[in-house]
Formats: sequence, structure tokens, C-alpha cells
Amino acid sequence: MRTLLKNVHNLHNNEWTNLIVEGKTIKGFTSEEPAVDRIIDGEGRVVVPGFVDVHIHLREPGAEAKETIETGTNAAARGGFTTVCAMPNTRPVPDSEENLKALQEKIRTKASVRVLPYASITTRQLGQELTDMLVLKKQGAFAFTDDGVGVQSAGMMLEAMKLAASLNMAVVAHCEDNSLIQDGVMHKGERNKELGLPGIPSICESVQIARDVLLAEATGCHYHVCHVSTKESVRVIRDAKRAGIPVTAEVTPHHLLLTEDDIPGDNAMFKMNPPLRAQEDQLALIEGLEDGTIDFIATDHAPHTQEEKEGGFFNAPFGIVGLETAFSLLYTYFVKKGRWTLQQLVDWMSYKPARVFGLPFGTLFEGAPADLVLLDLEATRKINTQEFASKGKNTPFDGWNITGMPVLTMVDGEVIWKGVEAHETTTHS
Ligand SMILES: [Zn+2]
Repeated sequence: MRTLLKNVHNLHNNEWTNLIVEGKTIKGFTSEEPAVDRIIDGEGRVVVPGFVDVHIHLREPGAEAKETIETGTNAAARGGFTTVCAMPNTRPVPDSEENLKALQEKIRTKASVRVLPYASITTRQLGQELTDMLVLKKQGAFAFTDDGVGVQSAGMMLEAMKLAASLNMAVVAHCEDNSLIQDGVMHKGERNKELGLPGIPSICESVQIARDVLLAEATGCHYHVCHVSTKESVRVIRDAKRAGIPVTAEVTPHHLLLTEDDIPGDNAMFKMNPPLRAQEDQLALIEGLEDGTIDFIATDHAPHTQEEKEGGFFNAPFGIVGLETAFSLLYTYFVKKGRWTLQQLVDWMSYKPARVFGLPFGTLFEGAPADLVLLDLEATRKINTQEFASKGKNTPFDGWNITGMPVLTMVDGEVIWKGVEAHETTTHS
């Protein structure tokens, strides 16, 4: 089937043009109107490669009250994401061929966007025993991670990296030294003192990253740091990159947009791990992203139920959702404000994550998979969690004014989501 995406704005040359999709593949841009099987009117909107999020939690199997593969991938589609990588902290953990196979089967029948599942580094993510990485790689694991917990022993991490390096696979790490957490629930800084809540010190993260970049140097393993949150972590990663160590890193929209000072009180919508840090950390993250120390943006979409999040900082679980607000928030608060170009933001959300992990997505070149999103840059709205496709309504951004939103998402040449109301309710600011 040939599809013509008519009248779209191509960011690369700033021209309004048509895009041809043949089957599952991009055929290229054209000013002509060739004979096709289907025409989709792009209505002048910007066409960009579908976003790639290498860090999301789908919760299925095991915690379907929070999210399912179906609701999580529908949320991804609405957010303009065409590929998402699912973290392995599910029950069971995808730590064996059998568990990973069962997960892939669920994905095959229920997911509306591409889902690439991680496998764990250690059995049941307990940090005690390495998984059979060779078997898991053959079965199609995207990479290895124990996200949610740091691998505590340097010896275990060394063995994991040796094995992963021999298989040409990445080790992806949530960095947290348990001996330094101090039972904290938010950043150990100023705000936690005001609120009388125990703090998580920055060194809890940066110390483990410092350890791991040296292990990556020793093993040659591609080591990817999840959700960097502190200025010290940025410095360690910058130095490691200068030394030629194969380290890459991601940052979340919430760490770019918020600090501990934004936490209004004992409200668990602001509780996530790593926590919102100080303003100097936020600035270091923004600069780190801009100078290439941090490679790209990932949401750490972490849905929880309303009841769970009502527990306050002491009792609620860590994590917020992000898939349905990431692009709009970053477009509104960084691109519209003139700090970044739209091309930069799109690169950090599609091209860069795809390149870092060797995925064939993130471009609109001829021959690339037809994964794309149309963006309406004029549409304005207030974030309303009740409109989310995700089961998780846990976000600190409810009620924020945003401009710019995905209005059509295509995966493999198929339109998997179209925001009809968005076309009709477009308002100009
Ligand atoms: Zn994590």
C-alpha cells in the first residue's frame, strides 16, 4: 500500500511538501502528487520521526492496576512515541528465556507501538546472580538493566559488564548506592528540611556512576546511565566521555523542568526516584544535555494508582507518568521560550536515542521504517490527567498550560492514533 502524507512541514529544509510511505517504509519527500492508495491530509503540520523512549514502565505482568501493555502503549502513541523500551521490574521479571518469551507474546497481541523489552542484569533483580545474557540476547532482549535498584556490588557489575561487552550488549543502570540512601524520600537539600522529610543525598547517585564508568573503561562495555539527576553525575559523565569511556546518559523531562523548590508540600505527585534536585543540578542537566554530555531525553514513565499516590511522601511509591506530556512540556518551556530549536528537541527524543542503541528509527530518510508523528505547534491546552490514555494520572504537571502536541502517530506505515478533537479545537495563542 502506498500512502501520501500531503502538505506536511519538513523541518530539515523548512518546506511544505508531501511524504510518500510505501508499505512499512519511508519512500521520501516529493512536491508531486503521485497516484497512491491512500491520502492523509497533513494540514501543514510538522512531520518528524516518531519519538523513542528507552525508559518506561508498563507494569504488565504483575501490576495491571497501575498500567497494562495496552494502556501504556496507547499513552505512548498519544505522546508521539513509536518505540518504547519496557523496564524489567515486573512480576515475573524477564530474567529467563521463558519469562521474556511470555512477555513478548503479550506485547505482540496488546501493544499499539513498538515495545522493546529489557531483560534484567541479575535474577529477579536481586543483585545476587547474573542472568543468562546470551540466551536473553538470542530471545530478543533490548539491553540489560536492574532499573529501580542499583547493582550494589562492584564485583557483580564488573562481571555483568564483561559478559554484556562480549555479547555487544549495553548495560543500562539506575544508579543508587543503598548504603547512601538514608531512607530518604526526596532530595537532601533545603526543601526536605522545611518539610521535615528525610533526604536522598546526591552522592547516592554520583558515587555509583563514578564506580561504573571505571568498570565500563575496564571492560569496554556500553554503559548507559538512566535518569541523571545531579550536577556531580553530569561532571563524572563528562569526564568519562573525555577519557573515551563508552558511556551514554539520559535525562527526564521532570528533572529538566522542576526542582525541589517546586514541591508544594507533602504531595507525592512530586515523589520520584531520583528525586527533584536543587536548581544548580537542574542547570547542570540542561547544560549537560546541550553540550552532549547527556545524550537524550527519556521519560521514566512510572504509573501508579491514585490510592497509592495519596499516601504522601512517606507512604507513596516513587514515580510519575510522562509519555503523554513530554513533548508538549519541553516544546512549551524550552523551544517556545527560545532556549532550544525544535530540531534539537526532536533529535533528543528520536534520532539520538535510536543512534545510541543502534536502532533503525529516528529518521525520515528513504528506506527507514515509517514511524512518524505529526505535530500541531499552535494547539494550546491545559494538561488534564483525566484525558490520559495511561491508567496512571500521577503527574505534577496537571493543569499546566502547554502549546504544541502530537496529532497523528504512525508506526510501520499504519496510523495508530489520530487526535481528532485536536484538529477541531485548535486555538491560536
Ligand atoms: Zn530508575
